[in-house]
Amino acid sequence: MTVVVGGGIAGLIAAWALARAGTRPLLIEARGYTGGLIAGLPVPGTDIVADIGAESFATRGGHVARLLSELDLPSAPPAGRSWVLADDGRAIRIPAGILGIPGSLDDLTDALTDDELVIARADLTMGPDAGADCADLASFVTARLGAAVLDKLVAPVAGGIHSAPPSKLSVDVVAPGLRAATRDHGSLLRAVVALRHLPTPPPVVEQVVGGMHRLTATLAREIEAAGGEIRTRTGVSALRPDGGRWILDVAPMTPARGPELVRAGEPTELAADRVVLACSGPQALDLLATAIGVTPWDMPTGSPIAHLTMLLRAPGLDFAPRGSGMLTAPGAPARAKALTHMSEKWPWLGDALRAELGASHHLVRMSYGRHDEPYPEPTVAAALSDLTRMTGVELTADDILAHRLIRWDGTLAPPTPAHRAAVAALADRLANVPTLAATGAWIAGSGIAAIVPHARAAAEKVCPA
Ligand SMILES: Cc1cc2nc3c(=O)[nH]c(=O)nc-3n(C[C@H](O)[C@H](O)[C@H](O)COP(=O)(O)OP(=O)(O)OC[C@H]3O[C@@H](n4cnc5c(N)ncnc54)[C@H](O)[C@@H]3O)c2cc1C
Repeated sequence: MTVVVGGGIAGLIAAWALARAGTRPLLIEARGYTGGLIAGLPVPGTDIVADIGAESFATRGGHVARLLSELDLPSAPPAGRSWVLADDGRAIRIPAGILGIPGSLDDLTDALTDDELVIARADLTMGPDAGADCADLASFVTARLGAAVLDKLVAPVAGGIHSAPPSKLSVDVVAPGLRAATRDHGSLLRAVVALRHLPTPPPVVEQVVGGMHRLTATLAREIEAAGGEIRTRTGVSALRPDGGRWILDVAPMTPARGPELVRAGEPTELAADRVVLACSGPQALDLLATAIGVTPWDMPTGSPIAHLTMLLRAPGLDFAPRGSGMLTAPGAPARAKALTHMSEKWPWLGDALRAELGASHHLVRMSYGRHDEPYPEPTVAAALSDLTRMTGVELTADDILAHRLIRWDGTLAPPTPAHRAAVAALADRLANVPTLAATGAWIAGSGIAAIVPHARAAAEKVCPA
């Protein structure tokens, strides 16, 4: 028997690949539902289910697009550009580029001062070696383009996406190929142009039409249709080798929705020939410790994340003053880290909302939680005031039809250079254990685009074609 531990996107893909290969995998998930950080909830008063966790996938590599075509799920890019709220309160359009790193300085005369532009322009002539040894995003961008580009553009964009400061993000993980391209082109600006195919860049991200939760729901259905089994509210607390097989300690779990996973009964033993670990990082490391003697390391922890989503009836938002959304620079006059105008960003959602509720209805998500700030406790009044400040549209409490606060504390651990080095050593170790694989965000790299090929490879490793 092949067991997959963890029913987030990584475990679902591994189990789906195993099921398609003719194995009948058993997927064990601690919570009462599969999908993990990809989840949807109904918009109040409608039949529309909107994403509350991950809402898009990076198009790089084409791995997710290939998966979606195999599952017959259409996807579409977001509509509208996005903006940054600068520390002086100005709204700046995010330049076309990578994580706020521009491909050209031509459109940045509003964002940067003349002196800052001179510093950034030096990138074109400083040669390939400057910054070549910088493993984290902050020092790399600063070495090539100066501190202003980092603070005004990259910190809000990369910080908004990865919920971590650029100093904690490995360049090679969050912007694969960027350091190599900078060496090849002798310039970071030219590397961005080449990698993003500027000036006519293809979309960086897309979403499954109807929401990313459709992807995980479809995978779960396909696993069961192919003879696999999904056992929810069941946790694995230990894994050990036993004469060429694996023994898992498996226990019932309480139906907690918060971050804690709590056992609801005594564990029993389950024997497996092959195991794919696709649970969250700390749990996977504990299991790997007893399975193959890995010494757990201090994994980076993610910031608290609070999303206050509001359903509004507000004609002032009809013209989408901030396109698909706005990120805030550190020190900007708003507490929110980001605003996502969800019904503008994803056209299917706006269309569905207007069809069910009528004109001028909007779904807006305000994101809170930074690594260096007190624990976020956003109120509706504060979110409304941030929304007004960020859009320039005067809004009142009467405009809000419903709201919901969702927390994702600690779920987005930054891929630090030290963590990546530990993961690389672990991968070498696992290569010598043919019946055991590990996958998931913590080991695959950043986001769904990295997880999809990694999880498929994990299934292929334990069950070669
Ligand atoms: C708010 C938010 C927004 C995001 N936006 C994006 C985005 O737009 N694009 C993008 O690419 N990525 C995004 N991400 C990141 C992306 O969602 C994750 O990287 C990805 O979903 C992680 O999948 P996973 O399967 O590795 O882990 P998870 O989804 O965490 O799944 C792991 C599963 O293992 C289970 N588990 C843990 N321990 C055990 C155990 N002992 N036994 C059994 N089961 C166990 C857990 O309950 C969980 O269901 C976002 C994340 C968040 C939180």
